[in-house]
Amino acid sequence: MITMKNPVAEIDGDEMTRVLWALVKEKLLIPFVDLKTEYYDLGLKNRDDTDDAVTVEAAKAIERLGVGVKCATITSNKARKVEYNLKHLHPSPNATIRGILDGTVFRKPISVSCITPSVSTWKKPIVIGRHAYGDVYKNAEMGIPGPGKVELVFTSEDGDTETRILVADMKGPGVAQGIHNTDDSIRSFAQSCFLYAIDEQLPVWFATKDTISKIYDGRFKEIFNEVYEKEFKEKCDKAGVSYFYTLIDDAVARVVKGEGGFLWACKNYDGDVMSDMIASASGSLAMMTSVLVSPSGAVEYEAAHGTVQQHYYRFQKGEKTSTNPVALIFAWTGALRKRGELDNTPDLSAFADNLEKATLDTIEAGEMTGDLARLASPAPVKTLNSWEFVDAIVRRMSL
Ligand code: NAP
Ligand code: MG
Repeated sequence: MITMKNPVAEIDGDEMTRVLWALVKEKLLIPFVDLKTEYYDLGLKNRDDTDDAVTVEAAKAIERLGVGVKCATITSNKARKVEYNLKHLHPSPNATIRGILDGTVFRKPISVSCITPSVSTWKKPIVIGRHAYGDVYKNAEMGIPGPGKVELVFTSEDGDTETRILVADMKGPGVAQGIHNTDDSIRSFAQSCFLYAIDEQLPVWFATKDTISKIYDGRFKEIFNEVYEKEFKEKCDKAGVSYFYTLIDDAVARVVKGEGGFLWACKNYDGDVMSDMIASASGSLAMMTSVLVSPSGAVEYEAAHGTVQQHYYRFQKGEKTSTNPVALIFAWTGALRKRGELDNTPDLSAFADNLEKATLDTIEAGEMTGDLARLASPAPVKTLNSWEFVDAIVRRMSL
């Protein structure tokens, strides 16, 4: 039995992923590890009962313990309010946790040899780090009814200075938009990117359009450079991690011709668009992991997919669904490996490596869930339901 020195924050969730969460713990973790966790139930009912206080407590626990692992959770909407008889609607738990940790989310596909990416040159996963604040996502925009001036105005807090520039002298109707970002947020983003890259030993690519947007995108480039030079260059050199800046169009061209195996730090919009491209070109949503890294170094691991609602309704009717638990398993292994590194308990990290290997070996031996079976080449030997698949992994764990 492998022991743990310190606990991880365990954040339970909803629906089919909650079912798989319990299954993964029962079959793949508890028999092997003397599991130490601080448990937070973020199931929708409990978030409602505690007026979301449990979400805030969970985020603080991640910060305090340094490591968290999270199940997928329902983001409430009108339909969910009726379904769960909620007092009120709650903000997305992921947004609440991200806000408290001031973190950046990194999405990384899990590769297996029987699923080839749509881009034939990709040999290693491409990780996307998306800046999740500002730009067009916090814009102010207006329709322009007719001729007139559109201006950008800054008024200082004390009211003493006012700066204005002309955006456009409109000759007829059109549209206008104002966007912003902050030095603090860009700096946190850059710090999280370098922390993650050093941890994963990945080169960092960052790209903007600073040739056109000299001040706005120029500021992103400047802050990234500054954070790299002043805070991370030495640590990066030691870890063999390089930093590469280029224009966004050049980056896109290189990404589709390259081998992969790097962290692509993206501005908010680029990250939104490119993460969906990378996810779908890499295979299945169920094979995508997600890591939230705060500039303080605290990390939270989760699956990128949601609660797999439709499978849950079928499960409730008695079906043993073929829902893929791989990203959930990798959320746990990520958290345990990190715990092992922080606590200097190499057995725990080695267990995480073994569990990942057993999981991938199972798939590569042709035993997999339905979502992968549809994509796999050669065709699978057996398509399994979630319970059979987990049992197949257990058999490889004890080999
Ligand atoms: P979803 O749970 O990601 O599932 C969408 C579809 O993707 C499923 O119907 C299924 O396709 C496929 N899929 C996703 N994960 C899979 C897995 N592990 N194994 C097999 N197939 C998988 O998204 P959703 O149904 O749009 O959202 C459900 C709930 O999740 C929502 O309440 C949303 O708020 C929440 N959500 C939470 C998070 C999070 O906590 N991080 C993220 C996204 C969404 P087939 O039906 O074709 O099999
Ligand atoms: Mg998107």
